Amino acid sequence: MKIGFIGLGNMGGPMAANLAKAGHQVTGFDMAEVEIDGVSMAASAAEAATGADVVITMLPNGQILRAVADQIIPAMTAGATLVDCSTVDVDSARAVAEQTASSDLLFVDAPVSGGIGGAAGGTLTFMAGGSDDAFATASPLFDVMGQKAVHCGAAGAGQSAKICNNMILGVTMAATCEAFALADKLGLDRQKMFDVVSTSSGYSWTMNAYCPAPGVGPQSPADNDYKPGFAAELMLKDLRLSQQAAESADADTPMGELAQALYAQFVENENGLGMDFSALLPRFEKRGRRS
Ligand code: NAD
Repeated sequence: MKIGFIGLGNMGGPMAANLAKAGHQVTGFDMAEVEIDGVSMAASAAEAATGADVVITMLPNGQILRAVADQIIPAMTAGATLVDCSTVDVDSARAVAEQTASSDLLFVDAPVSGGIGGAAGGTLTFMAGGSDDAFATASPLFDVMGQKAVHCGAAGAGQSAKICNNMILGVTMAATCEAFALADKLGLDRQKMFDVVSTSSGYSWTMNAYCPAPGVGPQSPADNDYKPGFAAELMLKDLRLSQQAAESADADTPMGELAQALYAQFVENENGLGMDFSALLPRFEKRGRRS
């Protein structure tokens, strides 16, 4: 397929490289100057979208997605499909879906789970919203970039699934980090803590696959001075999206709300900006119960 790929950051870069490696003809664009194996670079988002069968976007937020959609939709060929893999608010996903429908284009919102490891290894999980036709067009690309794609429902359903998943992720990372800090203060060795929890009822993706303690468990951003990975500010973004959605749907989400407040404190008032979201562990380590 001829693919336009816009947003070649931590996630988009390796995803585009995997599509190129699988034999697709990929033209990319990013605001920053980047080079991606096998991907030819365009001078603008509109140029990357011109003549593409599928345009994929992997951008920071809904506002940027809407701005990029305004640039690329007029450039896209009728019948082509726009696949947005960014994590954005449900309203932005639905607004872009409507905009594509009135331009005779197909749309899928398909946010991902699996982090930079999943993006590089082609093992992401896609949660997709859109028509059956749109999902069928995007499916072979999901197969290249990921190990699983779930068609969750109409446009916006992918984003709904994503923010619920990431609310669990934020809450679980906070709990995993505070448990390590407690274990430290109880004199428990971190490796022993990992050996027990990773095979006991406290196991989770944050413990088993993305352990926040350096030198313990598989390689993770903790082993790289907490460089992201998945940045704390992106976690905060997702927790805010989940609380916005909970507010408008009248859902009671007290743990999600606490995790949002904790990440807001970390990112906005402490040194969390630009750190991986697992850097809550050194934050907890330095604190006591009353400080
Ligand atoms: P990133 O900041 O590394 O990449 C975003 C890229 O978009 C950057 O390279 C930036 O230059 C580019 N960009 C911004 N505005 C642009 C514009 N107007 N036109 C073209 N390019 C533009 O972020 P990321 O970690 O790759 O995350 C991308 C999306 O994926 C986010 O929505 C994030 O929430 C989601 N996500 C990230 C992870 C993760 O582990 N990093 C996991 C799942 C989902």
